[in-house]
Amino acid sequence: MTEARYELALYAATASSSRGRRHPEPPPALRTEFQRDRDRIIHATAFRRLVYKTQVFVNYEGDLYRTRLTHSLEVAQIARTAARALRLNEDLVEAIGLAHDLGHTPFGHAGQDALNDCMRDFGGFEHNLQSLRVVDELEDRYASFPGLNLTFETREGILKHCSLKHARGLGDVGERFLARRQPGLEAQLANIADEIAYNNHDVDDGLRSGLITLEQLSSLPFFAEHLRSVDREFPGQKPQRRGSETVRRMIGELVTDLVRTSGAAIATAAPQHIDDVRRLAHPLISFSHPLLEAQQALKAFLRDSLYSHPHVRQMTLQAQETVRLLFERLMADYGRMPEEHAERARAAAAANGAAGAARVVADYVAGMTDRFALQTRDALRAKA
Ligand code: MG
Repeated sequence: MTEARYELALYAATASSSRGRRHPEPPPALRTEFQRDRDRIIHATAFRRLVYKTQVFVNYEGDLYRTRLTHSLEVAQIARTAARALRLNEDLVEAIGLAHDLGHTPFGHAGQDALNDCMRDFGGFEHNLQSLRVVDELEDRYASFPGLNLTFETREGILKHCSLKHARGLGDVGERFLARRQPGLEAQLANIADEIAYNNHDVDDGLRSGLITLEQLSSLPFFAEHLRSVDREFPGQKPQRRGSETVRRMIGELVTDLVRTSGAAIATAAPQHIDDVRRLAHPLISFSHPLLEAQQALKAFLRDSLYSHPHVRQMTLQAQETVRLLFERLMADYGRMPEEHAERARAAAAANGAAGAARVVADYVAGMTDRFALQTRDALRAKA
């Protein structure tokens, strides 16, 4: 790989083929449109909060585990590497990678499930949709528009999944779900980079925590094969290095396979423009069959051995209780939120009834960091 600047492929996202921003703006003087998106995401309040939001291990368990922030940085890193190799737009995949989890609640998936449950009668809560809501509406820092006013392409990538019920209300960015079509390649790539990142860093964090072991992981042929080659080449290493070196090699093989397999699929489909990619019924960014199986086995292992480990389950239950308590108490008395949110809730209740107010409360709870959620819970309990 040379240092020379690479030329984007015909089917890569570019400013000239972009579907633009919701509120038109003059082009940036020194940056590309997607660099500007990336920069706006880094300056967003929701981005800074990711540092105190749980990935799998809650923040107070230790300083060395992944948080939502470091997870997002790893997604951006993996996506950039693959994007450059495929001559896709690196700035765009980076923007998507950094923004994709902005809508996550405190306490990871447990928090999102609890909030979704609380919102059952009010339209539900989906973290992907919430990430889009954060960048489209909730960020409040620019004089001439709400949100971050990102390009269509970044928003397309952030909205990785979406129920059909919600897709209908989303306009341009929801259309592909109704038509069962694909997003651009950068969006497809950022989505898979997310999976590569979390499967591998959860193995790494799981080993560090002692909740899973190298022996257990060796039941996975993909892991065992890399661990064996590490032991063969570097016998007598301490367990932590054996684990980390194995994870590093797994990431390397997954990314290499992804680039090769996707490169071949792109060559066969021969798209000439990003819209050719969007018209396809199937994604072009994918693993080969054996690596897809390896990745799925890793995911199943983590589900059975780490995410459902009694220690993680216990945190999950506490998190669910906290989110439920926050939602119920704040719904019962909007005045317990800061005035700006309370005012929005009252206005939403007047306009749309309980569902309107519930959305404002859900936005407020979803925006909390783990520690702020716990502080607020304690304050609400003390006052009750
Ligand atoms: Mg993620």
